[in-house]
Amino acid sequence: MSILASKRKPILASQHCQCLYVQVQPNIAWSALQRMNKTKRIAMERVHILFRLAKEAIHKEPRLAQRYVEIARRIAMRTRLRLPVEYRRLICRHCKSFIYPGVNCRVRIQQRREPHMVITCLNCGKHMRIPLRKKEERKR
Ligand SMILES: [Zn+2]
Repeated sequence: MSILASKRKPILASQHCQCLYVQVQPNIAWSALQRMNKTKRIAMERVHILFRLAKEAIHKEPRLAQRYVEIARRIAMRTRLRLPVEYRRLICRHCKSFIYPGVNCRVRIQQRREPHMVITCLNCGKHMRIPLRKKEERKR
């Protein structure tokens, strides 16, 4: 906490993300950040910055936003960092492009069978299916 708080304040996912499927507890993000080694912490910081820039640019310059996310994904891969779930939702699983609700993807909730969320990428037209029940609930 002390090292992190003193010098540069790391940017947390919760400060930027206003999309409907982002619910990160700031405390959890903090502890996760503290547990990381220095390389990963810097990488995480940059991933946050790039995603924030991508979200700002998507409306005016979609290609620039795509580039930002591509770089963020490469940083994460190179440093073997797992992207937080809220960022993974913003990348199409199939064509790896940046998808933002209301811009180039469609988000629908399905109650039938298992309640789930379907994110349709409007670039490649494929779907991502996300179950909405938690693991413990699903077992019952
Ligand atoms: Zn796609």
